[in-house]
Amino acid sequence: MPLFGLAVLVRESPEKAAAVAAAASAISLSGPKSTAKGSRPEALFRAYYAMNAARRLSRAKDPEKALEREKLYFALHQKAQKLRMHSAKATESMVALHGPILSWHHGHPKEPRPNHLAADGHNFDTRRGVPQLTGALPGELPNCTCYWGPPIPGAPELR
Ligand SMILES: [Zn+2]
Repeated sequence: MPLFGLAVLVRESPEKAAAVAAAASAISLSGPKSTAKGSRPEALFRAYYAMNAARRLSRAKDPEKALEREKLYFALHQKAQKLRMHSAKATESMVALHGPILSWHHGHPKEPRPNHLAADGHNFDTRRGVPQLTGALPGELPNCTCYWGPPIPGAPELR
């Protein structure tokens, strides 16, 4: 667990801790990878997380508290990773069923995202990756209950 090693270093030398975090990110790049088509490279998300973690830990006034908070951030990072991979695999299954063009359906959660609501009833081309309007695949973001459907004839396309 690189976070525990970082805790010691943050106390002794924040600069060293940042370097260690960068090294830890290189290790964590060998973590889980999604093989689903259209999935984004998890290594980039992990590297981005590691850089931010290093920055937060090296600037912390109270290293103990910062480390406790970092554990929560890491858990959230891992949760987001699971959601992305699940969503990419589910999209791949829908593509196998209906082809590369799918439709977006708003799931009507308690707190809807305006951009997901705007995407409702639109088609999107999975070969282009994640629609710009939504910034994510259906169901990928926390509490997103949006889902895919077969292409709707004549429906506008998401970019
Ligand atoms: Zn949504």
